[in-house]
Amino acid sequence: MADLTGKRALVTGSSRGIGAAIARRLAADGAAVAVNYAGSEEAARAVVASIRDAGGTAVALRADISDPADAAALVERSHAELGGLDILVNNAGITRDGLLVRMSDEDWRSVIDTNLTGAFNTTRSAAKLMMKARTGSIVNIASVVGISGNAGQANYAAAKAGLIGFTRTVARELASRGVRANAVAPGFIETDMTSALPEAARTAALDAIAMKRFGSTEDVASLVAFLASDEAAYITGQVVAVDGGMTFA
Ligand code: NAP
Repeated sequence: MADLTGKRALVTGSSRGIGAAIARRLAADGAAVAVNYAGSEEAARAVVASIRDAGGTAVALRADISDPADAAALVERSHAELGGLDILVNNAGITRDGLLVRMSDEDWRSVIDTNLTGAFNTTRSAAKLMMKARTGSIVNIASVVGISGNAGQANYAAAKAGLIGFTRTVARELASRGVRANAVAPGFIETDMTSALPEAARTAALDAIAMKRFGSTEDVASLVAFLASDEAAYITGQVVAVDGGMTFA
């Protein structure tokens, strides 16, 4: 367990999957959490209810983080409703897979807009608040695909590689103001995003994992909780893979 007592956290895209596990974990470790969703209101409310049932504090906030005004308002509302903002987890993400030569402009743009520009939109607003408070931890959910590339995911790999460069730059810009930024690079994690993949792709992925199992959302959440906490006070600008031994960079 990381000690997040008294901290206030915004987790983008936490109605489902990895984000929902992160929201639950941060709350279990003592943080008050803003659970953001784009369309899945019922699922977000269920995450909030499960946190409250366990004795934690959470609010559900709708926002499309790819929209700059929506994202800025989300950060402002999180800050207002939680009474401050110590932790930002940029987790919201989508896939629109397809081979490069067949990839549409829309599939390229929507993935960049959500997975990369979305993180820029929230981080720009949160950074101002965190710099003023002289404390903060930003954790960006990238992917091993942003390090190694992956056939059929030119848009997604570009966004995640961009997110890694963004994280390192944010870390350099904000370090002197007491704000850290790190990226987490999950491998293959069992969520809605990966359940739709064909069996052949799942088998190929499993073959590439030294531990011979897919990751759970909790595997990712425990690393995020650590990086968000003061236990990681001297860690910034890093990319940490949580992939069961898929990449060894
Ligand atoms: P998921 O199950 O598909 O959930 C995606 C979440 O993002 C949902 O809560 C969704 O909210 C939210 N979201 C999507 N677009 C949004 C937008 N424009 N504004 C706000 N929220 C938005 O995905 P996941 O597998 O948990 O993935 C979470 C993150 O981990 C992503 O960044 C993904 O790229 C990354 N990742 C996943 C894996 C994996 O194996 N699963 C591996 C590496 C990295 P709504 O339901 O309301 O739309």
